[in-house]
Amino acid sequence: MKTLKRLGPAVVIVVLMLVGASLQNQKPTAWIQEVRALPSKQKVLPKATATVFLDAGHGAIDSGMIPVSGDYEKDVNLDLVLRIGEILEANSVEVSYSRTSDVPLGNSSVADLQNRIDMSIAANAELFVSIHCNASEQATRSGFEIYTDPNDRIAYSLSENIAEKLESVDYTQNNGIIDATELLHLVVFARVPTALVEVGYLDNESDNSFIQSEQGRQKIAEAIANGILTKINES
Ligand SMILES: [Zn+2]
Repeated sequence: MKTLKRLGPAVVIVVLMLVGASLQNQKPTAWIQEVRALPSKQKVLPKATATVFLDAGHGAIDSGMIPVSGDYEKDVNLDLVLRIGEILEANSVEVSYSRTSDVPLGNSSVADLQNRIDMSIAANAELFVSIHCNASEQATRSGFEIYTDPNDRIAYSLSENIAEKLESVDYTQNNGIIDATELLHLVVFARVPTALVEVGYLDNESDNSFIQSEQGRQKIAEAIANGILTKINES
């Protein structure tokens, strides 16, 4: 008894603490459930975990296609890539570039293309998007097309997203997604999901006038960037 008496105040404090803790334990349960029921803020934040490799086709002495008027293909590609990169970076996506100025990337066409692939691997890119403009014999064609590996699920859905956004700009026809697994070095030897976008025909008056315009380039760049962002956010 003596011992208990001596411990009296301490026991009372411990008991009070236990009662307090059990009361505290009761209220928060309902509370936590309420908090959990609220929509997560995370869901509205953009996901930004991918590294995208942007490739402006051609460069230096390799001009690419010759337009009816205006910039050569190599310069259009570079301008589009820089615009696309700016939009992606503004959405917290990490971007690497094969070139950001008019420089050569190899001494032969194979070396040039392989160098672009090697750069995308060194950058740990998760998506590879190459930008080009087309031309056809006797200027008979128009439209955009996207070359990819249809057996690569990610590359194919990336291509679909870009095609859908470009089509909504409504500047030319959608020539669809083309299997390039036996056609293009970049797609054949790609180590990351790759889409090569031919944005239109520079020897076609209508395509070329849109592609050469400031507003046209911005709309094309926004469409391609949105296609890439859609792919990143759905994966
Ligand atoms: Zn090209």
